[in-house]
Formats: sequence, structure tokens, C-alpha cells
Amino acid sequence: LIQLYQPLNFMGMVYREIKQAVTDIEQMFDILDRAPEIADKPGAKPLVVHEGAVRFEDVRFAYVPERPILKGVSFEVPAGKTVAIVGPSGAGKSTISRLLFRFYEPQSGRILIDGQPIADATQKSLRAAIGMVPQDTVLFNDTIGYNIRYGRWEATEAEVEEAAALAQIDRFIRSLPEGFATSVGERGLKLSGGEKQRVAIARTILKGPPILVLDEATSALDSFTEKDIQDALERISRGRTTLVIAHRLSTVVNADEILVLDKGVVVERGSHPDLLSRGGVYAQLWNRQREVDEARATLEGLPREE
Ligand code: ATP
Repeated sequence: LIQLYQPLNFMGMVYREIKQAVTDIEQMFDILDRAPEIADKPGAKPLVVHEGAVRFEDVRFAYVPERPILKGVSFEVPAGKTVAIVGPSGAGKSTISRLLFRFYEPQSGRILIDGQPIADATQKSLRAAIGMVPQDTVLFNDTIGYNIRYGRWEATEAEVEEAAALAQIDRFIRSLPEGFATSVGERGLKLSGGEKQRVAIARTILKGPPILVLDEATSALDSFTEKDIQDALERISRGRTTLVIAHRLSTVVNADEILVLDKGVVVERGSHPDLLSRGGVYAQLWNRQREVDEARATLEGLPREE
């Protein structure tokens, strides 16, 4: 039997290697997919970021010409402030963050960082200036330490550990058999959505960018995890220019300004109390979300069926 087992085991290893390569390629294509053809303009200059103010000026954009997604969006995120974008699913919220990263180019209008059009800047300098905590973090098939260090290769061990502590994932990492050297992803440990998001937060803390884009998770985390993650996000966004793409409304309450996007236009803007008292689209979204959250809290409080 052992003679049969060994070749099978070997084939299993080969299969895993191939599967691994396929996953890496899929990830690569995913990235390429999002960045079709945007290249640096001839003579593009590195961005000079002093404060990190972000400005959208009458931005119009369509993925396909017959379906406009943004129909003239203007707003500003002053340096160090937080602006949240909310709105129904499909309104174009994530599209705004993709345009800020210049994965796509607007058909008209301009996007500026500290007064410099991002279209004239080098991609490299643009992406170095912005940190992203995405909805679904893709982890590399490597150690958890590597995945955090990806934020800044030259970081010291102590800095990696400090970032993990600020993201409140250090205790979890220390509980793993090999600590920071534990493999994650395909070949190792599978992390939950909340743990992956904390790795992304630690990575971003290490990168320390002047501008942050937080793409809030669509998938519901349990209330405790969500609260922890929100605390960590709030800590890293303090004093940084932050754009929150809010698919749920839980992180927007403290934003300096909230923009309500509907069918590609900003239909309301203001602070949370302003918008609630106006009783418009935002107030409706908020009330609906509250009902959902209350129902969820009730369910979480129920004893589990075995
Ligand atoms: P949600 O809250 O559900 O994530 P959203 O407001 O972030 O929604 P976007 O992801 O910005 O919405 O998408 C806006 C619209 O653009 C959607 O109708 C979507 O189907 C469409 N869209 C997104 N990406 C592409 C693409 N690569 N090609 C064509 N259409 C796209």
C-alpha cells in the first residue's frame, strides 16, 4: 500500500503546486483586468504630496460608452479630513476609488492631489501616496509577516510587530504555531474575512501613506469584529486625508462630510446629523440599515442551533 501511496502523495504535491501557480496567475490577471491600458504620459512627473488634499472636478466616467456611471461628480477631501461616499449598490462608489488610483481614466473632468492632476503624475508616485484597505484583501501565499511587510519592505521586525499590534491582530498571530512565520493562503492557514482585513490594515499602517482609501466591507462581519476593525480604521485615518467608500453605513457617522451618490450624481451632502434631519435619501438608507443591524444583533444574541 505504501508503494501506491507515495506516488499518489507526490501527485498531490504536484497538483497543489499547479493549483498554486494558477491562483497566482488569476490574481495577476485580476490586477491587470483592473488596470487595462493606463500608462504614464510622456514626461509624467512624480507627485509632490505636501498635505494630500484630494479633489474631483466634474468627473464623468463610463466603463462602456452607452452606460455612464459618473455623471459629473465634484467634491474635495481637504487635507487630513474624512469624506465618506454612500449610496445604493451600483451607484458608482467603488468606481470613484478606481479612478483615484488611475486604474481608469475619466472621459472628462479632473482629479487632483494637492493641486496636481493625477493624469500628469507617474503611476508609481500616485500609488505610493495612497494606501488602500480594500473590501476583500487578497493575501499572498507566503507568511503572515511577509503579507504585512508588503506595506514597506525595509520595515524592521519591531515595526512589523507594532503595525500588527495597532491593527489588533498581534494576539492572533502570536497564537499561531509559527507566529509571524506562519504560512497563509493556499498552502497554509485560511484567515477569516476580519483577520484578512486586519492584515490589510497592518500593511497600510506600515506603508504610512498621506492619503487613505477605505473600501468598507460589503460582507457583514460579526458585530464585535466590526467594532474592533472600525476602531483600528479610525486610528489609522486620524490626521490623514481619508476617503471612505461605504457599502454599509457603519463607518460614516464621524466623517467630516458625507456624499450621497445616486445613479452617478451627488444628490445630498453634509454631516451625519445634517443629513438625518433632512429626511432624504441618506435618512432612508440609514433607517433601513438600522433595521437590518437590529435584526442581525437579535440573531447573534440567539443561542446557536447545534
Ligand atoms: P456596491 O456598493 O454594490 O459595491 P458601487 O456603488 O461601489 O456598488 P461600482 O462598483 O462603482 O458600484 O459600480 C458601478 C456600476 O458600474 C455597476 O453597475 C457595475 O456593474 C458597473 N461596473 C463596475 N465595474 C465595471 C467594469 N469593469 N466594466 C463594466 N461595468 C462595470
